[in-house]
Amino acid sequence: MELVILGSGGGPQPSAHRASPSVAIVHDGAVFIVDAGNGVANQAVAAGLRLRDLRGVFITHHHNDHNADYGNLIGLAWTAGLVTPVQTIGPVPLSAMTDEFVQLNRVDTEHRQALGRPSLRSLFVPSEVTSAGVVYDAGGLTVTAARVTHPPLDAFAYRFDSANGSIVVSGDTAPCDSLIELAKGADILVHEAYSPDDMHLLTDGTNAAVDRLMKHFHGAHTTAEDAGRVAEAAGVRCLALWHLIPRAGVTDGSWVEQASRHFGGVVVASSDLLRLDPAEITVPSLDH
Ligand SMILES: [Zn+2]
Ligand SMILES: [Zn+2]
Repeated sequence: MELVILGSGGGPQPSAHRASPSVAIVHDGAVFIVDAGNGVANQAVAAGLRLRDLRGVFITHHHNDHNADYGNLIGLAWTAGLVTPVQTIGPVPLSAMTDEFVQLNRVDTEHRQALGRPSLRSLFVPSEVTSAGVVYDAGGLTVTAARVTHPPLDAFAYRFDSANGSIVVSGDTAPCDSLIELAKGADILVHEAYSPDDMHLLTDGTNAAVDRLMKHFHGAHTTAEDAGRVAEAAGVRCLALWHLIPRAGVTDGSWVEQASRHFGGVVVASSDLLRLDPAEITVPSLDH
């Protein structure tokens, strides 16, 4: 089992510094992707993954930094040789979005199908997640969803468990008990983070603009420092900060320092195409 960070940035604005949020979990040769920000198919190929090995797509919520390329990911995998249906899982209205994507792209789709490719629609097997619980269980991999706090949207975190380790991906959320419960004892928690002292980098720098932004983030997102508190409460071995906001202007050292204030495990400031193996996380001894 391996975690590959495809895009480490957060928020919808395209950036030259970090790709849009998406991670891959590779298990037994099968590729599972959580969130499909803009450019996810390209990032997966850049990471050396084969799109035809895609078996599952999990969407945490329907903000467009997380789902802009939901349909494109499968549509582009189809042109790259995908012939096996892919389980796609996410909040309502995932099923309607799937049908609308195929309809939106009907000119291309009908042309390629006429050339002999399988029906694009048949490659999507959408399933809407409406409550906490197991959402996928096959081939030695179990995925469990928990509802998280990202008002006003329905939002879920996903936990991947296999014999080789456990990885939890938070999506967007304010600190919440349901995520701590889901992440209990996991090897790796991939958690969103923003750096409150650097939010002026996203605005024109006026206090009013920064205040407006902070109001929006409070109650719906998590600071790097609080991500450390969540990781500590959950007792995970490694916290991989992800969906970093701002995408540029904060050093890795600063991200790690903020999250380490309340967490004794390993902290990683993720970067695009970073790979982590949950079986190889070494937590430094804490006997002091
Ligand atoms: Zn987001
Ligand atoms: Zn969001």
